[in-house]
Amino acid sequence: MPLESVTNGTPLTNKTIAIKDNICTTQFLTTCGSRMLQNFRSPYDATVVRLLEEAGAHITGKTNCDEFGMGSANIHSIHGTVVNPHQSPFSSVPWHEREERSPGGSSGGSAAAVAAGMCDAAIGTDTGGSVRLPASYCGVAGFKPSYGMISRLGVVSYADSLDCVGILAKTTAEIPSIYSILSVFDERDPTSARPEIRKRASDFTQELLDSWDCQPGTMDGLTIGIPQEYFPKELNDCTVKPLRQILDVASSLGAKIVPLSLPMTQYALSAYYVIASAEASSNMARYDGIQYGTRIQPPHGADTRKVSNVYAYTRSHGFGHEVQKRILLGTYALTADAFDNYFLQAQRIRRLVTSDFDSVFRAPNPLSANPVKKPHGVDVLLHPSAVGTAPFLSDSNATSGLDSYVQDVLTAPASLAGLPALSVPAGLVAGWPVGVSIVGQWGSDELVLKVGQAIE
Ligand code: GLN
Repeated sequence: MPLESVTNGTPLTNKTIAIKDNICTTQFLTTCGSRMLQNFRSPYDATVVRLLEEAGAHITGKTNCDEFGMGSANIHSIHGTVVNPHQSPFSSVPWHEREERSPGGSSGGSAAAVAAGMCDAAIGTDTGGSVRLPASYCGVAGFKPSYGMISRLGVVSYADSLDCVGILAKTTAEIPSIYSILSVFDERDPTSARPEIRKRASDFTQELLDSWDCQPGTMDGLTIGIPQEYFPKELNDCTVKPLRQILDVASSLGAKIVPLSLPMTQYALSAYYVIASAEASSNMARYDGIQYGTRIQPPHGADTRKVSNVYAYTRSHGFGHEVQKRILLGTYALTADAFDNYFLQAQRIRRLVTSDFDSVFRAPNPLSANPVKKPHGVDVLLHPSAVGTAPFLSDSNATSGLDSYVQDVLTAPASLAGLPALSVPAGLVAGWPVGVSIVGQWGSDELVLKVGQAIE
């Protein structure tokens, strides 16, 4: 059966859209920011690229990213570092003398291209926050749909059970027309949500939309949950102010604001890094310089005891440090000794994180065998997208040290549970953008986008 025909949504004629460089295009190389794929041209277009072109969009080019999507600052790329194009209106220092900041990663190129006005929208991928974090740092909107809603065919795998294609645009209002083109069942992606599940999700979402009088100027009937665990000690206090302002407006428009607790949140980041690295180590195994990847020959006269074969030399020189680190971490988590204590525990946490979310949402989880409605639950959750504003590129701990992993602390839980999550620009703190994230039940993507438009 072919893909469902695209009949809904606004045609994308004349829209310029840039594509993250881990998504296959026939027109451009697909390097994933890696030396390993520096000359790779895909023989086919990813489903998302084909759908965009069929809808009339003009693909303007590929955007830089962290190697294979691994990173939070877009500094791990063979093409170099991406610089955040935002200019603080309060700085008196001439722009060329200002200290450069990160655009966030791994879809930093996509967010920077949108923020700099180089395209109408950009496509990114989000495994643990890679669309939402750059959106927050660059002051644009970034949407990670429910896992399985957008086809991953032609998206180079980092961690298959988490990878989602996402959309970045200047404002949330520009996202739904692109999302409606892309969110179709693709039988060539085995993880694509099947039509009957989509139908069930859309029925549940319609019930939520019906009870919310979603007219401009009112938020009557909408219940917003504020999870207390999303204000960790790492959170810079001033980033809370824009969220507070949004909540004041929402409640004056009739929304009900409910504080709540998602106790498993504190374990989500660790579980994410175990699962993502384990899957990455398996996905990266195919790049051996023999079947896949650029073969890198040991130089003449090289110490062949250390670089005993083409395979080892290719992988030591074809992958950057961050990717090698993830391969080591993931391989370790999958060894017989560590499997029970790391990998299995992380999978358990993943399930508990999902049940945490299920216990607070009013809508049932359409993926559950026994979906239960909770009349007193919340429709969406709101929380800061990131723990602070864009880090300085000179701050190596924030861009490549342990702190770079901490940047994902607020985005990883929704990734583990596969939930739709949108970061909307929420204003400036000391001249730099911060985002607020809206998270909904699996399949309530339309609601999340509507709430995004209402609060932006
Ligand atoms: N920063 C996270 C990581 O490195 C998320 C990356 C992503 O979402 N692609 O795994």
